Amino acid sequence: MNRRYVVALVAALLIAPSLHGQSIPTPREHFGFDIGEHRKLADWDAMTSYFERLAQTSDRVMVDTLGPTTVGRPFVMLTVTSPDNHARLGELRDIQMKLADPRLLSGEAELDRLLDEGKTIVLITQGIHATEVGASQMSASLAYDLASSDSERILEILDNVVLLQIPSLNPDGLQWVADWYMSHVGTEFEGSPLPWLYQYYVGHDNNRDWYAFTQDETILTVQKAQNLWHPQIVHDVHQMGSDGARIFFPPYIEPWEPNIDPALTAAVSQLGTYMAAELTSQGKKGVVVNAQYDAFTPARAYMHYHGAARILSETASASMASPIIVAPESLGPGRNFDASQRSWNFPDPWEGGPWGLPDIVAYQKAGALALLTNAAKNRRYWLENFYRINERAVNKWDEWPDAWIISEGQDNEPGITYAIRALTMADVEVRRSNDAFTVDGVTFPEGSYVIPMNQPYASFANTMLEVQYYPDLREYPGGPPLRPYDVTGHTLGYLLDFDAVAVDGELNVELSEPVGVPEFDFRLPEHLTGVEAPRVAMYKAWQEPMSEGWQRWVFDEHGLGYDTLHNADIEGGALADYDVLIFQAQSARSILDGFRLGEVPPEYAGGLAGVGAQAVQRFVKEGGRVVAIEEATDFVRDLFDLGISNVTEQLSNTDFYIPGSILRLELDASSEISEGMRDEIAAWYWRSSMAYDVSDARVRVAARYGSGDPLLSGWVLGGEYIAGKPAILEADIGEGSVVLFGFQPNYRAQTMATWPLLFNSIR
Ligand SMILES: [Zn+2]
Repeated sequence: MNRRYVVALVAALLIAPSLHGQSIPTPREHFGFDIGEHRKLADWDAMTSYFERLAQTSDRVMVDTLGPTTVGRPFVMLTVTSPDNHARLGELRDIQMKLADPRLLSGEAELDRLLDEGKTIVLITQGIHATEVGASQMSASLAYDLASSDSERILEILDNVVLLQIPSLNPDGLQWVADWYMSHVGTEFEGSPLPWLYQYYVGHDNNRDWYAFTQDETILTVQKAQNLWHPQIVHDVHQMGSDGARIFFPPYIEPWEPNIDPALTAAVSQLGTYMAAELTSQGKKGVVVNAQYDAFTPARAYMHYHGAARILSETASASMASPIIVAPESLGPGRNFDASQRSWNFPDPWEGGPWGLPDIVAYQKAGALALLTNAAKNRRYWLENFYRINERAVNKWDEWPDAWIISEGQDNEPGITYAIRALTMADVEVRRSNDAFTVDGVTFPEGSYVIPMNQPYASFANTMLEVQYYPDLREYPGGPPLRPYDVTGHTLGYLLDFDAVAVDGELNVELSEPVGVPEFDFRLPEHLTGVEAPRVAMYKAWQEPMSEGWQRWVFDEHGLGYDTLHNADIEGGALADYDVLIFQAQSARSILDGFRLGEVPPEYAGGLAGVGAQAVQRFVKEGGRVVAIEEATDFVRDLFDLGISNVTEQLSNTDFYIPGSILRLELDASSEISEGMRDEIAAWYWRSSMAYDVSDARVRVAARYGSGDPLLSGWVLGGEYIAGKPAILEADIGEGSVVLFGFQPNYRAQTMATWPLLFNSIR
């Protein structure tokens, strides 16, 4: 593009006509700086008021508050399309709902009319990870262009696409990060890390919540954007590390979870490749496809089970909004490409040098515009492909059973309610039997849940209820296994402790209408209620682990009382007021040392080393109980010189690797930790889990990983190293005691099966 053309275009943007005679405010007029300037971040108040002004001055933009965030800020969605489309938004949504559920169509003639009249529905979500600061900033710039430009390209988008834009999936975090960053710009702490989780409960894990639906922001997005519109395309804009490609687009690498429709896999791959092609054509270097990110866990990819192409983009980060210099020699091999070498999926390498927020915003905006252009130009393809995917689902895949049944009368009612909530929240139709009935010799009582698999979102039900067999991918035939990018198991029956049965054939029973979304049904065990209940403290480091946040969420939902203790509280003697102290998964080094002095402002530096650790020692010796999980058990081991070790510590990850799978756990009935439980249960084991060797007479074993093959669902390499090994330990020390969990009993609020072990350890 030559300079004169750029100037003409900019001039055209500045004098764009507008509604009510008011001009559409540019980002600079509103924020006082250009979006994507070095060292400048707009905060959430400024952004929401900008979107209000866009909505007031442009007849292309509408802004809605979908509800409050976890902390109470407005959670906002923009609807951006042509004025004509705005005038018939209800009709466009009705068309979309029919394409989403082919059972509602009268035939091919109606389909043809809907394909003519419908628009591609695109949802762009930004800023779920608040320290990946570019995307939410970019949203304001993208919205301005769409509101004000009369270029042919923008008009084509507006005519053919209804864009739903959620400028921040995490407004609380955006505000905290913007405040933190802007208050430290120009000081020695510019770009220093935020010393608490940037989503109130779950921090960075907020994009792993797309089947448990625990956080307010997830629920609002699913119920008021995703399920209200069932978009054909969802674009989730992220950032990654600094030392690789400049931007990633799909195709994802293998494996793709097998319940994803093949035409959706192909759609994702064409769209991502198109975006990469546009950016590369514009001369943007360092664009990679088919690298790093796979498509296996539904926890990140709700959309793949709802007919939508999910386009993840990952742009290289700077130091928040501060620029960095990337040394050329730091650009090396990644998964499925090498950042220093040209290849088909990385055709134009970036050679290193300065990188900052202006680059991030430019790449991300170019990506979003490429996506919208593809959505507009191929409108009919997107609509028809979406319809065909849903049609195959309502006709039921051959690979699926005729129905899944969750029998009434099982022990774990709250677990079943949790599962039914997850399925119905995902728009799966779940019915109940109006009578008892028998299939294959098994009788199910009246009121059993039945999920017929001939329905639009059957793929979500199937992946959540079946056992995962992660494919055996090798670096080369006969070679070492390719290690999974993410976790590999998500079978709800194991995670939540209930039985689901796949059946084929006629059911011969009348079924109810689909049930609604139930509330959580959490029940606190009796010993944790009333005046006799132990007084609970949770340690919270300034390097706050996400597992500590997930723990707070589960406790808050159950109404379990607890207090949060920081380093200074423990050092100041606060433990005297408590019976139980919990350390969630966090390394001993992080607990002891925390942030280095100079890394963060002094009030957030340091850990429990010295006075704090001595206070914890004294607490136990004088009658307190410490419960420690995964890596935090190293801290407790060292504190009391326990003769225990982690059997997997010396193993290489080509011999032993469990990235996230569901294993069999054998409980010792004599321990009060297994009170009220069966002898065997499913437990979550992942990268930070441990299995022990014990050589200390003080230490008792309360649970072991399954002997033989411990795997229930997912993928395990070297399971024999932990088979039969201790998983939960107890020891009496002085007047008090410790409980050590080698695995995570509360993995992302998805492992209700093992919550009783955690509650039982709090005494
Ligand atoms: Zn991210």
